[in-house]
Amino acid sequence: MAFRKPDIKYTQLFINNEFCDAVSGKTFPVTNPATEELLCSIAEGDKADVDKAVVAAQNAFKGTAPWRTMDASQRGLLMYKLADLIERDVNYLASIDTVDNGKPFSESLCDLDYSIKTIRYYAGWCDKIHGDTVPCDGEYMCMTRKEPVGVVGQIIPWNYPMMMIAWKFGPALAAGCTIVLKPAELTPISALYLGALVKEAGFPPGVINIVPGYGATAGVAVAEHLNIDKVAFTGSTAVGSKVMQAAGKSNLKGVTFELGGKSPIVVCDDAGNLDEAAQVCHDALFGNHGQNCCAGTRTFVQDTIYDEFVRRLVDLAKKRPVGDPFDDKTLQGPQVSKIQMERVLGYIEKGKAEGAKLECGGSRKGSVGYFIHPTVFSHVTDNMSIAREEIFGPVQSVLKFKTLDEVIERSNNTTYGLASGIITQNLEKALTYAQSIRAGSVWINCYDLCLPQTPFGGYKQSGKGRELGKDGLDEYLETKTILIKVATKMS
Ligand code: NAD
Repeated sequence: MAFRKPDIKYTQLFINNEFCDAVSGKTFPVTNPATEELLCSIAEGDKADVDKAVVAAQNAFKGTAPWRTMDASQRGLLMYKLADLIERDVNYLASIDTVDNGKPFSESLCDLDYSIKTIRYYAGWCDKIHGDTVPCDGEYMCMTRKEPVGVVGQIIPWNYPMMMIAWKFGPALAAGCTIVLKPAELTPISALYLGALVKEAGFPPGVINIVPGYGATAGVAVAEHLNIDKVAFTGSTAVGSKVMQAAGKSNLKGVTFELGGKSPIVVCDDAGNLDEAAQVCHDALFGNHGQNCCAGTRTFVQDTIYDEFVRRLVDLAKKRPVGDPFDDKTLQGPQVSKIQMERVLGYIEKGKAEGAKLECGGSRKGSVGYFIHPTVFSHVTDNMSIAREEIFGPVQSVLKFKTLDEVIERSNNTTYGLASGIITQNLEKALTYAQSIRAGSVWINCYDLCLPQTPFGGYKQSGKGRELGKDGLDEYLETKTILIKVATKMS
């Protein structure tokens, strides 16, 4: 059951298992993008607060601290408990994400479901992380240990508030790291409630610290911190580049990035059921209002089926229910902020000006809330801004292609490399495409499946490192080599 006006219980920073005001005493406003109303004021963390959180995380990481001395299986039990508590409060947390982000309540529930599954998946890893014995040369015995990286900074965006936390917390906690999380300034509320659940679950103080604030202050302080061992960042490529520079200039901390994309989804003339194929392409783009890093933003359709396929895409876009995110029928709520709405509307104007054909949508819906009509452009060409740049909104660009070789080359003709998809009944064709694409994910006859067990991440300027699956866990581990002199060796 949804809470249309959820009571917001926690608005302070969460450090050392306690809620506290920012050192500066400052707060910042958080609004509901569907109504433009103020939801609450949140304590505004900056460098001084990040420093406090890092000290807490360092203390929790000390060799004698409970987090480091407890059985690995016990770490897993704490994570299972946290997942259970999220599940207990799932309607409340989903309601929070809906008022804070604008996504439909049903979609928030779906995010929560994935979040719970992700934490449980990683909880199971805790006591299964181990090194090897290595048959090395000489009179030595060698073993390796997998150890946590240390104190990790995690900076996340606003498009999946709870899910991004689960993707970050899951592997970091399983590995045994301690955390300073900087949620997005647009959507910090559910993260702080999670702080209360962390404490209730019984995590030792300092293992998880949550410092909301702005990117230019709190985010920079995390990226530059000398006592943070690794930073994991999800957001724009431009900011990712800044974080990498800050990491390099400060202490060469490890970095993993989940950045932007301009992902192709290819529909071949042997796609089979075109209604189903159109639905896959529609969902690939319009899911989460287009505010999805792996959205299928370049829909390539083979020339022989182009016109009839565009017709199907336009029908779906015109029928997409946009409105109150708490209405069961709604599939699309508002964009997350006025700035994002204006950015998307700006791209729509560029699409028109650069000669694409506007098939439907193309404007703001209503005057209160940041709603945009689902928009489809046909006859888009590779050089247009809407085919090259990340729009992050409900704007579908449909391009035409003739041959597989051509569409492979055009799919790869981007600075990004996060995701891709192909719809065809010819397995040979699908596998040729899958092997030729320089992107971290290829979905065949489906799209946008990011499952707890399957690695996800980008090539080129879409990212560095992987999240989810065992690969995601490895990003939070160091390998230590221990060599023991022995008198006699048996190889
Ligand atoms: P952003 O990259 O500006 O912000 C993401 C996070 O980084 C936020 O928590 C922000 O406070 C923080 N941040 C900002 N500047 C920072 C800095 N200098 N150092 C450290 N941290 C900093 O993204 P945004 O403003 O939320 O959205 C802008 C664009 O980014 C979107 O339009 C979209 O193209 C892209 N984006 C991508 C993703 C993704 O999942 N890949 C998610 C959100 C946004």
